[in-house]
Amino acid sequence: VWEQCVDKLQNELPAQQFNTWIRPLQAVEGEAELRLLAPNRFVLDWVRQHFLPRIEELVAGLGSGDAPAAVILEIGSKPSAAATAPTLQAPAVKKSSVARRQSVPNNLNTAFTFENFVEGKSNQLAKAASFQVSENVGRAYNPLFIYGGVGLGKTHLMHAIGNNILKHNPGANVVYLHSERFVSDMVKALQHNAINAFKDHYRSVDALLIDDIQFFAGKERSQEEFFHTFNTLLENKHQMVLTCDRYPKEIKGLEERLKSRFGWGLPVAVEPPDLETRVAILKNKATHSGVMLSDEVAFFIGKRIRSNVRELEGALRRVIANSQFTGETITLDFAKEALRDLIALQDKLVNIDNIQKTVAEYYKIRVADLLSSSRSRNVARPRQLAMALAKELTSHSLPEIGQFFGGRDHTTVLHACRKIKELRESDSRLSDDYSNLLRVISS
Ligand code: ADP
Ligand code: MG
Repeated sequence: VWEQCVDKLQNELPAQQFNTWIRPLQAVEGEAELRLLAPNRFVLDWVRQHFLPRIEELVAGLGSGDAPAAVILEIGSKPSAAATAPTLQAPAVKKSSVARRQSVPNNLNTAFTFENFVEGKSNQLAKAASFQVSENVGRAYNPLFIYGGVGLGKTHLMHAIGNNILKHNPGANVVYLHSERFVSDMVKALQHNAINAFKDHYRSVDALLIDDIQFFAGKERSQEEFFHTFNTLLENKHQMVLTCDRYPKEIKGLEERLKSRFGWGLPVAVEPPDLETRVAILKNKATHSGVMLSDEVAFFIGKRIRSNVRELEGALRRVIANSQFTGETITLDFAKEALRDLIALQDKLVNIDNIQKTVAEYYKIRVADLLSSSRSRNVARPRQLAMALAKELTSHSLPEIGQFFGGRDHTTVLHACRKIKELRESDSRLSDDYSNLLRVISS
C-alpha cells in the first residue's frame, strides 16, 4: 500500500518536497495499520501538518479491506532497511531496473529538475538547450556542452536532463558521472584487466552525462579512453552532455582533438545570475521549504550575496534554520542578523580598491589611469566599467563612488552605469568582460 501511495505522492508533489519530506519515511505495514517512521521530529511534524491528510486519503483509497488502515506517524527507523518490507527507495529502483540491462546506477539526483530550475537571462539559453536535448535525445545538439563558473547550475541542469529523459522513457539507459569518477573507474578497470567491460559498458548507454570535464586535464590515458567512448556514442547518435568550469579551448592539458570535438555540438554558457534572478531563486527555494519570504528580505539577501547560486542557497538555508530554531519570523532585521558575518566577510573582499585593481589588471592598465583625467578610449571604457561594477557590487552611493575615482561628479558615475548597461546589451565583447570581472571580483 505504501509503495503505491509513494508513487502517487511522487507524481503530485514537486520533487524537492517529495525528496525532503516523503523520501526519508520508512514504512512498516501491519494488518490494520501503516506505521510511518520519520528520521526526526522536524520531518515528523512537517509531514503531519502538510501531508498526513493526503496520505490517509491515499491509503484509505488503496487499501483492500473495507476497514481503512490507520496511519501512525512516529520517530524511528527500521533496524535493517534491507530485505523485507518495501522501503521507500524500492519502488523507483525496482520498476526501472527490470527494463535496464542489469547495469549501473544512473546516479541521478531526482531533486534536480527543470521545474525547480529558475530561469533568468544568465541561464536561459543553457536551460532551453538542455530541455531540447532531453526531449530529443541524440537528435538536438550533440554533444551539449554547458560551461560556466561554480555554483551556477551546471550540475543541476545535467541531472534535470537525465531525469526528464527517464520521465519520458523509464527504460532509457542514462548515466550521470563526475569525470573524477570516470577516471577512477577506468583506473580500477585497468588494474583488474576489465578495461573491455568498462568500454562496453559506457558505449552502450543512451545518454552519458559527464560532469566537470576539466578534471580530465593532464590525464592522458583517461582522455584517450574518453575520446573513443565519445566517438562511439556520437557515431551511434547517443546523447552526450558535458560540463566544464570554462570554455573547452581554455582548458590546459586537454588534447586538441578532444577540444575541437567538444566544440562540434552546442557550447552554452551559464552566467552569474542578475539581481532579479537571484531574488526569484530565493523566493522559489523558500517556497519549496515551506517558508514565505518577503520581497524586502529576498532583495536584501539577493543584493548582498552575488557570487553564485550555491552561496545564495547557503545564506537562505542559514536564515531559515535560524528562524526555525528560534521560532522567530523572518524579518529584514532577522535576516541581517543571521547573515551578519557572511556579509562582513564579503564586504572585506569586495571593495572599490579591489574592483579598481582587478579591472586595471584585466585591461592591463594602471589603477592610476582609472583615477586620472585621461579620456583616451582604452582607459575611459575600463573606468566606466569599474564604476558600474562598484555600483553593482558595493553599497556606496554615486557621489561616494565618484570620490573613489579621482573626485568625479556623481553624474559622471551615473552616466557610466547607464552606458555600461546599454553596451552590455549591444556589445558582446564588453558583456563578456563584465561577466568575467563580476565573477572574479565577487567569488
Ligand atoms: P555547478 O554545477 O554549476 O557548480 P550546481 O548545479 O551544483 O552548480 O548548483 C549549485 C546549487 O544551486 C544547486 O543546489 C542548484 O540546485 C542550485 N541552482 C543553481 N542554479 C539554479 C537555478 N537557476 N534555479 C534553482 N536552483 C539553482
Ligand atoms: Mg557542478
